[in-house]
Amino acid sequence: MIYADNAATTKMSPVALAAMLPALEDNYGNPSSLHSVGQHAAELLQSAREAMARCLNCKPREILFTSGGSEADNQALLSAAELGRLKGKKHIISTAFEHHAVLHSLKRLEKQGFEVTLLPVGPTGTVTAQQVKEAIRPDTCLVTVMYANNEIGSILPIEEIGAVCREAGVLFHTDAVQATGHLPIDVKAQHIDMLSLSGHKFHGPKGVGALYVRQGVPITSLIEGGAQERGKRAGTENVPGIAAMAAALEDACAHMEENRAKVTALRDKLIAGLSQIPHSALNGDPVNRLPGNVNFCFEGIEGESLLLLLDDAGICASSGSACTSGSLDPSHVLLAIGRPHEVAHGSLRLSLSEWNQPWEIDHILREVPRVVAYLRSMSPVWKDLESGKKQFML
Ligand SMILES: *Cc1c(COP(=O)(O)O)cnc(C)c1O
Repeated sequence: MIYADNAATTKMSPVALAAMLPALEDNYGNPSSLHSVGQHAAELLQSAREAMARCLNCKPREILFTSGGSEADNQALLSAAELGRLKGKKHIISTAFEHHAVLHSLKRLEKQGFEVTLLPVGPTGTVTAQQVKEAIRPDTCLVTVMYANNEIGSILPIEEIGAVCREAGVLFHTDAVQATGHLPIDVKAQHIDMLSLSGHKFHGPKGVGALYVRQGVPITSLIEGGAQERGKRAGTENVPGIAAMAAALEDACAHMEENRAKVTALRDKLIAGLSQIPHSALNGDPVNRLPGNVNFCFEGIEGESLLLLLDDAGICASSGSACTSGSLDPSHVLLAIGRPHEVAHGSLRLSLSEWNQPWEIDHILREVPRVVAYLRSMSPVWKDLESGKKQFML
């Protein structure tokens, strides 16, 4: 199979696996135990924290290990809201195309009396620092804007937004789950107060992530229990997962530039080829996007059928639309960049890693046009478009 769904999850790297096995086999102790087996595990935990801190340019004590990106997002938003509540500030600024871990946390806070401003992201899928500046009010307690979008790959001006927030004295959180290990991160230079990341998006294991919290920013615990993670995240630490995630991040950061160049070349070849399909459109910015992200809309087809046929053709991809309890909702991200419902349904996301090969791109470039043409040949909507009964939108 050709794996082109790296934005959903990645394969673990040999480096991450090699870091995980000793923590399972030999250093299996509980880091809170006083005996030597436990203390060896505690040392692994500490060196993982130090490695992560080096990659983000922060202090080891500013890293809080979590079960993944979703938990980190939830904890960041709830903590900022708790602080806002104490200060009588109940306004939060975000964007219309955040991950559901952020959007659904915001929904929960709205029910608790917070007011949320979702900035529009425009056709290329970004917000400007100026938009953020204009939306900040005296009662704003948090700005949360993702570093890069998981569906259309657009990269947001995090450093400029961070500067605006710091200047206004408003907390700034970024969901950097798609950016970590792929784009440069420097929490100091980028004026970031809180940052979420997840191991399985950069060749680490699933079920482990981290929240960077700038020293001095108070954090609320989501899980009560023991005093792990300085009392902010109870539960025996996932030492094998954490050790593997740290190794994966170090590896990704060490090879970031060469990986970026390699993956960008594959991506651009894919974009150029797929653009040849009639009545198609690239979603997101052609240049300012994640190295591995390709996302297209094809008029007159259903993304789900496309995915199933591509799977038969040996290609693992993804579509923006999510089939929830029988109803087919188009992606909120594609709607946010202004794609009409009908067009948003016909979307395809191919997300590459440095392990994809040029021959795989050639195979995708043969199969996608073939499958799109086949689906169109059977589509009643396509018939109406071709006969002029309906207007083409792309
Ligand atoms: C994958 C992802 C998450 C969720 O991370 P998990 O570790 O799977 O919980 C959050 N935000 C973005 C942008 C993502 O891509």
